[in-house]
Amino acid sequence: MPENSNPELKKGGEYILKESKYCSHSYYVVVLNVTEKYYHLQYENGNTEWVEKKDFQNNIIVMEDISSFKIQKEIKKSVEQVFENCPLCNGNGRIPDDNTTSGETTCPICNGSGQRLKTSIIYG
Ligand SMILES: [Zn+2]
Repeated sequence: MPENSNPELKKGGEYILKESKYCSHSYYVVVLNVTEKYYHLQYENGNTEWVEKKDFQNNIIVMEDISSFKIQKEIKKSVEQVFENCPLCNGNGRIPDDNTTSGETTCPICNGSGQRLKTSIIYG
């Protein structure tokens, strides 16, 4: 019977571990891979190690699964910019203007391009 009741580590999961309950030092690992018998772990300093699941269960205590915290922290905002038709001139680039000889003038919003750059922020 294993001494500890650790959860199964998930591939890609991140955890805070301790060597034993008497040890005050906690450390961070990310699980690079999970095989039938092994965990492939990467430590904070970049070192990686294949740890037998059996040894892991007997010797390591999982203090906390921090995968979800990490994911939240790494949510990235990406900015998407798309052109849309100018709302004032509807893409014509010119608007009616009775004060000019041509009866129209260059659209002040899009400067005649008929397009407006629309910026949306995408969370994902
Ligand atoms: Zn316009």
